[in-house]
Amino acid sequence: MTRADIVTVDIERKLHEKLVKEAKDNDVSLRKYVNELLLAEMQKNELLAKHIPKIEKISVDDDRVILKDNIKNRIAEIIIQKGELLCQLCNQKDCVHIGFVFSLPELAGLKVQNLH
Ligand SMILES: [Zn+2]
Repeated sequence: MTRADIVTVDIERKLHEKLVKEAKDNDVSLRKYVNELLLAEMQKNELLAKHIPKIEKISVDDDRVILKDNIKNRIAEIIIQKGELLCQLCNQKDCVHIGFVFSLPELAGLKVQNLH
């Protein structure tokens, strides 16, 4: 690695002290320890993002669909109002949750008009 391949970032002193201690405990340089830690964390996050669905179906009734939004970590309730889907989480008729409902095979059984 050359100087051109290295950047400097600011780390809070308290965190720096912990990292120094952990690097020492693991008998590696601080640079190596921090780089490996960050790389492992980023790989873990990428793996999670790939394998955990962003939105999951919880239940589908005649007049409502319950979804779990794993990104917002919230439950989205989509109701049918005047024949149109309305997401009560976003208070919108056009959001990612509505889009998800339109992709469900159960959509045919819902009393929704003007399916796009
Ligand atoms: Zn929504």
